[in-house]
Amino acid sequence: MKFSVLLGSVLLISSFCSAQSRAPEWKAGVATRKLTPDGPIWLAGYANRTAPSDGVDLDVFAKALALDDGHGGRIVIVTLDLIGVPPELRAFAERESAQHFGLKPHELLLNASHTHSAPQVSPDRMVLERTFSRAAKTADVDAVNAFQTFLQRTVVDVIGESLQASAPARLEFNQARAGFAMNRRRLEPNGTYSNNPNPTGPVDHDVPVLRVIGADGKLRAVLFGYACHNTTLGGSRISGDYAGHAQRFLEAAHPGATALFMMGCGGDQNPYPRGAMVPGQPVEQLAEQHGRALANAVFTALAARPRPVPGPLRAALADALLDYEPLSAKELETFNATEHTPPILQRAQALRAALQKGERPAALPCPVQVVQFGPALTLVAIGGEVVVDYSLRIKRELKGEADVWVAGYSNHVFGYLGSRRVIEEGGYEGIGANIRILNHPGRFTFAAEDVIMAKVHELRRSLGP
Ligand SMILES: [Zn+2]
Repeated sequence: MKFSVLLGSVLLISSFCSAQSRAPEWKAGVATRKLTPDGPIWLAGYANRTAPSDGVDLDVFAKALALDDGHGGRIVIVTLDLIGVPPELRAFAERESAQHFGLKPHELLLNASHTHSAPQVSPDRMVLERTFSRAAKTADVDAVNAFQTFLQRTVVDVIGESLQASAPARLEFNQARAGFAMNRRRLEPNGTYSNNPNPTGPVDHDVPVLRVIGADGKLRAVLFGYACHNTTLGGSRISGDYAGHAQRFLEAAHPGATALFMMGCGGDQNPYPRGAMVPGQPVEQLAEQHGRALANAVFTALAARPRPVPGPLRAALADALLDYEPLSAKELETFNATEHTPPILQRAQALRAALQKGERPAALPCPVQVVQFGPALTLVAIGGEVVVDYSLRIKRELKGEADVWVAGYSNHVFGYLGSRRVIEEGGYEGIGANIRILNHPGRFTFAAEDVIMAKVHELRRSLGP
């Protein structure tokens, strides 16, 4: 399969102008590569799709922002309009970046927007069959495998291009708010949690914005976040959903600048309205409206006196080990041939055998990364589909002089990462999706949240004051 490649936005860097009021303290580079395949491909995110994609609403991209504090502290943040970051991608990017660019693992952050309208990223036929239609054909699997190879190379290329484009810059941070994310865990009369809008559930409406200004005073890049699933759309056409539109609006308003979206802790958040919720309004318009709302928040943050972000930059990355509570025999009985594909039933059978032997599943390593921008900003990036409780708690506990930005969907998107509350409550994000769709051997133990929090604090402390 052939993929079209759009060369990254090549930056024309003017020499440093002494007339600028504030001298650049950083070096920054940015690059963009298109990921949209030329032909049809299975899209990721919804189990009810029965065929590969049939067109493109909005191109999807890999983008990289390289930041260097001039004193050895650096980070490359890669944002992807994709469902997630598979471990194979992280491993490949880490290895190649070390070899070609001397990047250490903690100097690389990969984040996925979790758009449900972009190509499937797993090369595994089993995953394709399990999570999508049984109608997947060998040719479809070949296309997914080809995309995986293309994606890995492209991510390494975009990292290299961002480093090459490095030039003096200054950084500023601010935040605003956007309100279209809503909690999607609704308590039903029978005591269970369904996947429906819950207007009183917890949300994080912050829109953190890091802007990169070149030595010529022009906006070169804007990195912004939001905690919400990119699930306005559900059709068969490729799109970055609301985050894709927000990036498009920002780049159109600032020609030459690159907008990068970093997904927050939106594991239990949906953009509302979505799908067919508004009679007579095409869903594509809803995605565009949410993108406009998010872009408006970014414009506001940019206009409302952003604060300078000085160095030094320090980063740390480590795994938090999440233990599983194996499924009980009774829970395993609920797997049946009408609802589940043969691979899932085989998996349930293997879990039943392990349970009988008293074997406990191995813990899951969840990457946690902390990036400290001097005294001004702390960025925490966690693996998995992180629910909003984490960002609220991390902002509360790290609150101090520095602003706090919490990203989910980073470095390895293995499935849902529930908080203690969500795991106890159960439902889709607490247990259902991980065991029924995403191949986990059980639910995470109730200690998962504290294990993650301990790692966040440990890494933050390791970076000094
Ligand atoms: Zn999700």
